[in-house]
Amino acid sequence: MAKLMDGKALARRIKDESAARISEFRKRGVEPTLAAVLVGDDPASLVYINGKREDCGEVGVRFVLHELPSSVRQENLIKLIQELNEDPSVHGIIVQLPLPSHIDRKRVFSEIDPCKDVDGLTPTNVGRLWLGDYTLDGSLLPCTPKGIIRLLDEYEIELEGKTAVIINRSDLVGKPLAKMLLDRNATVIMCHSKTPDLKKRAAEADVLVVAVGRRPAFSVGPDMVKEGAVVVDVGMNRIEGKLMGDVDFDDVEKKASFITPVPGGVGPMTRAMLMENLAIALELSEG
Ligand code: NAP
Repeated sequence: MAKLMDGKALARRIKDESAARISEFRKRGVEPTLAAVLVGDDPASLVYINGKREDCGEVGVRFVLHELPSSVRQENLIKLIQELNEDPSVHGIIVQLPLPSHIDRKRVFSEIDPCKDVDGLTPTNVGRLWLGDYTLDGSLLPCTPKGIIRLLDEYEIELEGKTAVIINRSDLVGKPLAKMLLDRNATVIMCHSKTPDLKKRAAEADVLVVAVGRRPAFSVGPDMVKEGAVVVDVGMNRIEGKLMGDVDFDDVEKKASFITPVPGGVGPMTRAMLMENLAIALELSEG
């Protein structure tokens, strides 16, 4: 039976550590502030925004929400970001995804001040990651991959020389995670919807990371998992009102050595990493 990688417990600890880092600023009269920008009224986005508001409350950060209609012009969204960049009372900026299709996400993210980029998605911070110019606890890195690495570290999962297979190639998850795993000397294989023989590829993995989110069309069963593999399930699927991952947990846990649950695995780690990034952004604001 696989050992459970408890993201909830580790996230709690990281939030407490972030709260302590953040409270140093409060003691000096700084009011730590996260500005969130929400375009439109996508219900899932509202849930994520409320989660971030709650997390900010827990670690002692002021949360300011800027809501814009889904019809907003891109130039007006960029204008708001520029104002937030200039505002010294704002330490972190997030633009909730997805954005409406008439808005160029990459263009918008390129406007965020890299020192306030708590999602780690600006070209500068992505470039730093790919150049190897980063540290895990001192740089603004994307929250989900960073959370996964922290979880693997917590359970002392050896990565050097291991084969890591990632089923995902998005800018938020697969690509940054691939670089972080490469930096740990893993051999990384990235898979996606056009990968032939996906089952065979997945079954080669010592560490298998799955982030697809297309249940029931796609799921990972024990036939895709090597005996003793470490399985990280990033996927989030709402099936009949219940949150489920991409991995068939009950069957795969019998074969894996370590496995993340959904909920309680990568999700809380992603949230905790945003709070840690806020602590880092505050530290960066003081040079
Ligand atoms: P995304 O941009 O839609 O990426 C999905 C990836 O899955 C793409 O690379 C896609 O391939 C691949 N894919 C789709 N169908 C596939 C198939 N049949 N076989 C193999 N690969 C397939 O989404 P995302 O933002 O990266 O998120 C992915 C999932 O992770 C979602 O469920 C999301 O909710 C979840 N997520 C969870 C957290 C968390 O904190 N727990 C954080 C972020 C995301 P192509 O590139 O070829 O389209």
